[in-house]
Amino acid sequence: MLERGEVANSWRHERWDSLRLLTPNWQSRLPGQADAGADPDGYMTMGEVVAFIERFAEVARAPVRTGTTVTSVRTIDGGYRVTTSGGEIHSRAVVIASGACNRPTVPSFSAAVPASVEQATPFDYRGPAQLADGGVLVVGASATGVQLAAEIQQSGRPVTLSVGEHVRLPRTYRGRDVLWWMDASGVWDQRYDEVDDLDRARGLPSPQLVGTPERTTLDLNALTATGVELVGRWATVRDGRALFSGGLRNLFSLADLKLARLLDTFDEWAQEQGIADVEAPERYAPTQAPRSSQLQLDLGSGAIRTIVWATGFRPDYGWLDVPMVDRKGRLRHDGGVLDSPGLYALGLPLLRRRKSTFIHGIEDDARDVIDHLACYLASPG
Ligand SMILES: Cc1cc2nc3c(=O)[nH]c(=O)nc-3n(C[C@H](O)[C@H](O)[C@H](O)COP(=O)(O)OP(=O)(O)OC[C@H]3O[C@@H](n4cnc5c(N)ncnc54)[C@H](O)[C@@H]3O)c2cc1C
Repeated sequence: MLERGEVANSWRHERWDSLRLLTPNWQSRLPGQADAGADPDGYMTMGEVVAFIERFAEVARAPVRTGTTVTSVRTIDGGYRVTTSGGEIHSRAVVIASGACNRPTVPSFSAAVPASVEQATPFDYRGPAQLADGGVLVVGASATGVQLAAEIQQSGRPVTLSVGEHVRLPRTYRGRDVLWWMDASGVWDQRYDEVDDLDRARGLPSPQLVGTPERTTLDLNALTATGVELVGRWATVRDGRALFSGGLRNLFSLADLKLARLLDTFDEWAQEQGIADVEAPERYAPTQAPRSSQLQLDLGSGAIRTIVWATGFRPDYGWLDVPMVDRKGRLRHDGGVLDSPGLYALGLPLLRRRKSTFIHGIEDDARDVIDHLACYLASPG
């Protein structure tokens, strides 16, 4: 196992200070390590996640070579030549588990933002104290964007949040964590070959969720109530002005509709299964659209001092010299099996199941992929 940094590197170095997992402790399990501790419904801090993964590496006796960066993987006769900062390795099979979120995604028009406005990504943002005083434009309203918008607004810096397509979820539903419903009703286990539009499902934004001890719901209504101003999707920069799309109302209706459908699914499942130890069904107020939302913002006016890009993450396969990456920079694979014998992937969105994106999704995926790999290795080379 080759790791360029340390065990749990992404959790140590690529997350902001206040982040807690949005998956509850009972769900954040790894093979053989399912003890949810004293607070099964709590959400781990980054320090706790690092300790959890370190413990797993020890218990599993994973042969990790830390501080070893893979700089190239290429095919050779009968397998692969892996070039690393610590020398070369030849192997019949390679599993790519380098993560789905190696780089923040930032739109190309960020280059046209005036130099007077500072820009940050979730990789360099640690907390609001590092930001200049004054207005902050947070771009993106998925898990990262809503969490950063909330804490920056709370620090006294007025936040404008640019909202595109998003997934609205309450933290708890009928008295249970919403992720309990996903798990118990089988939504998480839905397989990749049962999903209608796999490409779209793999690209879906993360849900608007935050893990707090109070189990707070952090949707757009909650943000508006704290004074965050909502604007539409940021389309481009022209003459130093940020131009936002209209149509917030449509975006909100769509997210509200999808939420209602999901809650219907949960209710139907609970009824069919005779689940009694839950509260009565409830429905939530529609997302409140601002009376009029700004369609443009003069970035040179001084109203916005910092832009925080919460516009997603992408993998980095700059080191992979096997032509398996598509135009959009995504690995082409069928459930983690690549079209190059002996080459596999793990840890990608909806790799084999809806839960593949999450820590607890790895166990079933790894088992399936390793079964395939074992058959491959058992075949004559
Ligand atoms: C902001 C954020 C919040 C998240 N919150 C949750 C959550 O609440 N619950 C949850 O279950 N999941 C969450 N996730 C998803 C989480 O990232 C995955 O569940 C999990 O980290 C995937 O583990 P991984 O080992 O596949 O990828 P990673 O954790 O990204 O690990 C990949 C490793 O590969 C190493 N690497 C990359 N390239 C090379 C190379 N060329 N050479 C050597 N080593 C290399 C990296 O250093 C890294 O350590 C979150 C993700 C993000 C970005």
